Amino acid sequence: MIQDLIYKLAQSHSLSLEEYERLITERSEESAGLLRRLAVQERVRIYGYDVYIRGLIEISNICKNDCYYCGIRRSNTHCERYRLNPEQIISCTDEGYNLGFRTFVLQGGEDSYFTDEILCGLISRIKHNHSDCAITLSLGERSRTSYERLKQSGADRYLLRHETADKTHYSQLHPSSMSFENRINCLQTLRELHYQVGAGFMVGSPFQTNKTLAEDLKFIETFKPEMCGIGPFIPHKDTPFRDYKPGTLELTCYLLSIIRLIHPAVLLPATTALGTIDPLGREKGILSGANVVMPNLSPVDVRKKYELYDNKICTGEESAQCKSCLESRMNAIGYKIAVTKGDIIINESK
Ligand code: SAH
Repeated sequence: MIQDLIYKLAQSHSLSLEEYERLITERSEESAGLLRRLAVQERVRIYGYDVYIRGLIEISNICKNDCYYCGIRRSNTHCERYRLNPEQIISCTDEGYNLGFRTFVLQGGEDSYFTDEILCGLISRIKHNHSDCAITLSLGERSRTSYERLKQSGADRYLLRHETADKTHYSQLHPSSMSFENRINCLQTLRELHYQVGAGFMVGSPFQTNKTLAEDLKFIETFKPEMCGIGPFIPHKDTPFRDYKPGTLELTCYLLSIIRLIHPAVLLPATTALGTIDPLGREKGILSGANVVMPNLSPVDVRKKYELYDNKICTGEESAQCKSCLESRMNAIGYKIAVTKGDIIINESK
């Protein structure tokens, strides 16, 4: 019985690969309901009704990589490129601080302008201005030395989705210049350097199967990242994957509940992609066990250009509007936004 699998997962935080696959393949409204109730129970036990916010600053859409799914891939000649300079990034963080953000996520393509020197200078300035804030980087694959320097200048966390835990699937999503091994090595290195690490994957990406998803869940179970970003794959019109179907709200929410039960304390965002495929996607993500949202703090004039997928939401509003919009959405479902760095709570008691 699938119910037994769910109780086993809630108890032991672990299933075999075959069991994870069954949990996905044999899912029903009933199993989703049970998972959701248990997942919300766990998140309330650890985090109450607090939702952590991360101010997302999209620092550049210039990228040397050519991931088949991504709208800012190198080969997309229709993408109008931009990069923010350090002054612009600093002013986004100042504005964010005044709005109550205590975590800033600097995300971007792999843009060679952002050398260690530039980034270290930037990170220490932000830390100097706002010593009570956490800095998260999401700038792709770099060398160990680079990750080390960035950590030394004050970066606290690093988001690097593993994208898929299946090597063959990885090679179907990326050109041969990119490797699964390097991606996983980077995650391992970040862990060794004591970053709080975020992994994650897209739901419904081309060639994904319930078996590859089971491998993703096993990876989350064994690597135990502090954070796990998952959202539906959404096609972008100027990529090789333009004609593939998007991932669903239903499966994304189902997986959010499972991940909450695998790793009860994990920081789990209800992503912008989830809000893009359904007008109430982020609310439904929170109600499935997520506990983080990431309002956009990028300057309004660049937001549309950071288009990873079609019809991305939150590209028109000012940062303050973005924050208050999410705040009222969270309040409407009985949750509240917390003004805190929002670290993972590790010594939760059972
Ligand atoms: N260059 C950084 C940041 C990538 S963008 C890095 O390599 O980590 C952040 C995430 O957006 C990616 O990890 C990917 O999972 C997601 N993404 C990219 N294209 C997408 C699409 N078409 N649909 C949904 N998510 C997408």
